[in-house]
Parts: sequence; C-alpha cells; structure tokens
Amino acid sequence: MQRQLPSGTAVASAAVDDAKAPVRLSILGATGSIGQSTLDVVATSPKGTFAVTALTANDNVAGLAAAARAHGAEIAAIANPDRYLDLVEALSGSGVIAAAGVNGIDEAAGRETDCVMAAIVGAAGLRPALAAARHTKRLAIANKECLVISGELFLAELAATGTEIIPVDSEHAAVFQVLEKRDPATISQVVLTASGGPFRDWSHDRLKTVTREDALKHPNWSMGSKITIDSATMMNKGLELIEAYHLFALPEDRLDALIHPQSIVHCLVEFCDGSLVAQMAEPDMCTPIAQSLFWPCRSSAHAKAFDLKKLSSLTFSDVDTAKFPAFALARAAMRRGGAAPAVLNGANEAAVEAFLERRIHFLDIATTVAETLDKADQLGLFAPCANIEAALQVDCEARKLARDVMATL
Ligand code: NAD
Ligand code: MG
Repeated sequence: MQRQLPSGTAVASAAVDDAKAPVRLSILGATGSIGQSTLDVVATSPKGTFAVTALTANDNVAGLAAAARAHGAEIAAIANPDRYLDLVEALSGSGVIAAAGVNGIDEAAGRETDCVMAAIVGAAGLRPALAAARHTKRLAIANKECLVISGELFLAELAATGTEIIPVDSEHAAVFQVLEKRDPATISQVVLTASGGPFRDWSHDRLKTVTREDALKHPNWSMGSKITIDSATMMNKGLELIEAYHLFALPEDRLDALIHPQSIVHCLVEFCDGSLVAQMAEPDMCTPIAQSLFWPCRSSAHAKAFDLKKLSSLTFSDVDTAKFPAFALARAAMRRGGAAPAVLNGANEAAVEAFLERRIHFLDIATTVAETLDKADQLGLFAPCANIEAALQVDCEARKLARDVMATL
C-alpha cells in the first residue's frame, strides 16, 4: 500500500505495509559519510516518514550515541567490544539499548525493519548486511564490497529471504532508474562515469610523489577515507563495474566506464536502436540515498536545483589504464570470475589501509593488488566459492598474501 505525503513526498510501497505507520529504518555504518547523509535524509523528510530502529558504528561512540538520541533509535551497537561501557554511559537515560561486539552488531542488524541502509565500509559489512537482509523487506546497498566479494552468493541469500535490493552508489542508482522495466536484450552498453579523482591530470612521474593528504582530497565528492583512496587509484570504478555486473546481470563486455570530470552525468545507457539515455543530477549522495529509501516514489524534500548551464561543458574520455592500473586489474578480475574479485578486494583493502597508515606509497597499492592476484592464481584461490564463509576465507587469504607482498616492497 502506498501513502502520499505532504510536499509531494511519498513513501515507497515495497517498504511499507501499513498506510499510517512510518517506515522502520536501520542504518549499518551510521557514523560514516553515507550513514550521516542517510540520517540527513531522514531528518529533512516530513515528520513521521521514518522511524529509526537500529544504528551501528565501528568505534565512534559519541557520534553513534548522538545519532541514536537525536533519532530515538531502539538500539545502537558499536563493533568494538571494548567501547561497550562507554556506549552505555553515553546512552544513559535515553531509553536506547546499547550493544557491542559482533553479537551486538548482529542483534542490531537482526531487528525487524522495513528498510536497512548497508553503509559499513569494506568486507566488514558483509555479515551484518546478510543478518539484516533476513529481517527486512528492502536492503539499500552502499557497501559495494559485499557484491564484489560474493555477488552471486549474496544475491542468492537475498532472493531466498525475498529481500529486495536497491542500489545507493550514485552510478548504480542512475542505471537502476534508466533500466527500469527494460528488456535486458535491448541494452547494448551501460557506461558508468568516473570523476577521475584528484590525479586525473597528473603525469605518471608525479604520481610517485602522492602523499596521503593529496589522495584524500577528492575534487567532487566528500566521502569516507577508503573510498576516497579507491577513487584516487580508480579502483573504485573497477569495483563499481563488478557491482554493476551483479546488480544488473549484464555480460561484462556490455559494461564500461568513462572519465567525466564534472560528475553531472552518472550513467549512460545505450540501447540496441542507437538511443542513449543518461541520468543527470548534482553530485550529492542524498539524491541516490533518498531514491533508495523512497523508490518507486520520489521525495522532493532533498532535491537540489539543477543548473542547466552546466550541460554546456560536459566532457567524456577513456580511463587511462597505464596511469591507473587498478581499474584494469578489477576489470580483469571481473572477467576471470570465481573468487578473483574477492582476492582483488581483500588485497586492495589491505593495501589501502597500509597506504593510509603511511606504510606504502600510493603506486604500491596497485602493485600489491597485482602481485597478490598473481600469487592467489598460482595457489588456485580463484575457484568459485561454495558459500559466503568460503568467500570470507578467500578474503582473509588475500589479505595475508597482500601483507607478504607489501613486506617485499
Ligand atoms: P565511512 O568510512 O565514512 O563510514 C564507514 C562506516 O562503517 C562508519 O560508520 C564506521 O563506523 C563503520 N565501520 C567501519 N568499519 C567497521 C567494522 N569493522 N565493523 C562495523 N562497522 C564498521 O565510509 P563511507 O564513505 O560512508 O562508505 C560506506 C560504503 O558506501 C563503502 O562501501 C563505500 O564504497 C560506499 N559508498 C560510499 C559513497 C560516499 O559518498 N561516501 C558513495 C558510494 C558508495
Ligand atoms: Mg560511485
């Protein structure tokens, strides 16, 4: 049943049963960039649109407690078990239940809801997303690594529980809108756009000098540190190709990416009759986040005015894979299939962490991923995984191999 709200806002029918009830929403990774933007969307929606059920975070007790109090959450869970008593204290008198550790995150993720925003970063989000999927009608997926590590298995679990998945990543939210109810056989090509990151115009020699601070300065988007580094290496666009491969069930040779520095066009879909359909919006994650929560309706509460004059200066070019080998590595792992994307992701997470801790140089990230992929292949680690546990085991093995590679750099 669908409910029309004031100011042209409507709540997605799939997420709501009762015409009068608010949409029960949980956010995994509530203190992060996507988590906070989701809470902004909740706060700017008409009162009574959403009721926050569970919020989770890794270590940021103050941020988690503040959000839980402000939104009247039922439960707040912190992943770091050592912070449990701090969280209890921060929530005292609020009526919000405090939980901690893996079991605490599971308890929060397992609360019955209408919609869950999966916004933990990296492989750490996979188990909580699956726990949540069993108790919700809709999974809004920002945590692309879940799909990269175990795409088919992850989607099969969702299908088994009848949970719908709606993309949050801006390019995928764009493709999702364009593809709605189209016959896949009519699609010739889906192109995701990429800003090119802060080093788009840097020479290969200059890339040798990149510092942590340089890499954390994204020109168009304000995001968490891991995805900001992935955008700088262009691994992010490679992970997004794999994400699109699973979400839209298209052959990999119909997926591509183009550099589009303005970040206005988020995708281009070419149909078999030569028609090209683009989705455009200002680069603001609140737009795809609201879309994922309200779909198939739309919310006017978060819309930003679009400046049509910007259309006069849109440019598109190929990804320079010699300068950004991470993109080519991801594409090759997608083509190889099996557990190759899980190895790619595990190695990349280990390398990005090392770069953020100033243990390796910027160009070492792609080198580490490439060498880890080679070693994993020799060890037979690319065989398809029988279940999610096996995929997580591959993730662990890839991290170990990557650490060995980094020790030799
Ligand atoms: P972030 O680093 O800002 O936030 C990550 C969140 O996950 C935080 O709440 C953190 O506390 C939590 N977290 C981290 N490690 C955890 C662990 N081990 N256990 C439990 N919780 C943990 O990241 P972000 O930029 O919000 O990105 C989140 C996800 O969304 C990523 O997968 C990213 O690729 C994707 N995404 C982000 C954006 C963006 O604009 N930020 C856009 C598209 C997709
Ligand atoms: Mg994206």
